[in-house]
Amino acid sequence: SAPASAKGKPRLLLMGQRRSGKSSISSVVFHKLPPHETLFLESTARIQKDSMASFMDFQVWDFPGQIDILENPDFDMEAIFGQVGALIWVIDAQDDYLEAVARLNATILALQGNYPLINIEVFIHKVDGLSDDYKLDIQRDITIRIQDELSDHGCENAPVTFHLTSIYNHSIFEGFSKVIQKLIPRLGTLESMLTNLCRTCRFEKAYLFDVLSKIYIATDSSPADMASYEICSDYIDVIIDITEVYGTWHRSEDGRKKLEGAPWGVKLEDQVGCATAESCLVLHDSRKPIMLREVDRYLALVAIMKEDSYDKMPLVNMNVDAVVEGLTEFFNITRRKG
Ligand code: GDP
Repeated sequence: SAPASAKGKPRLLLMGQRRSGKSSISSVVFHKLPPHETLFLESTARIQKDSMASFMDFQVWDFPGQIDILENPDFDMEAIFGQVGALIWVIDAQDDYLEAVARLNATILALQGNYPLINIEVFIHKVDGLSDDYKLDIQRDITIRIQDELSDHGCENAPVTFHLTSIYNHSIFEGFSKVIQKLIPRLGTLESMLTNLCRTCRFEKAYLFDVLSKIYIATDSSPADMASYEICSDYIDVIIDITEVYGTWHRSEDGRKKLEGAPWGVKLEDQVGCATAESCLVLHDSRKPIMLREVDRYLALVAIMKEDSYDKMPLVNMNVDAVVEGLTEFFNITRRKG
């Protein structure tokens, strides 16, 4: 059963057939493996519980595709699905997917009985190298095959969502972001906080990131686009690389205490002193400043500012301080309830 630390917190399950890409996905997203190195990964040979140093404490259970959990009496369904928030089912889009779709259908139908609230998130995966038209054709075909089967069984309302993903670009992170956002209670409140911040500070776009995975937990109400997400997520890498970018203005002792922990990919035992990361750079090509502020040991706020807003930094900082405080409060309350 689940470790005590994960009790009551949303859990992600990653499933799919052998070689569909499960180990690669968890290695790239949660362990920063460069995508090309997944070529040499051992295929998943057993159930792997993978505990993440992430703010939601979610786990990826990497199931081997060849074991049919639904028919195997050794599997304790309650232990596996009892606390699951979302089931991510990986389908290899570069391979014949009929068998994968059939197994997925059987799994969804089996879950509908006892666990109808689990979000089923289908990752139509390895879509790099496929043309846009072909991608959409495949998505349409898979969607129809699943919807038809579900409505034949009177389950057309099962919460099934489709994502086109690849580990070779940001689409896998985008996919996870959408999955995670559905699991956050009161996401709307979080989004309004960011929307208000964008308005008062004249930001173009703001993202709240889980630093470890670079999955975004929330963003403001203006449309999320891949380009701004990529800029902000690459910026986190820049800041992790430039380890000497620490606070440039005074932080209260209290604020420092809140940030105890090891957020920047540094092991706890390796970390010295306080790592309150905050920074602002002007992007070279677009002349737009971009700012990053740590919220707690797992989360960071990253925003793209408008071109002329650099000279308003003191005001921006004041507003960002207030929002960081609000976010801390938000997650304290959410955790206490959870
Ligand atoms: P698992 O058995 O489901 O854990 O699958 P693996 O993670 O071992 O992946 C099987 C193969 O698929 C590996 O050679 C990966 O490099 C490859 N792979 C995984 N994700 C992608 C992707 O997004 N695009 C492409 N082209 N190959 C991928």
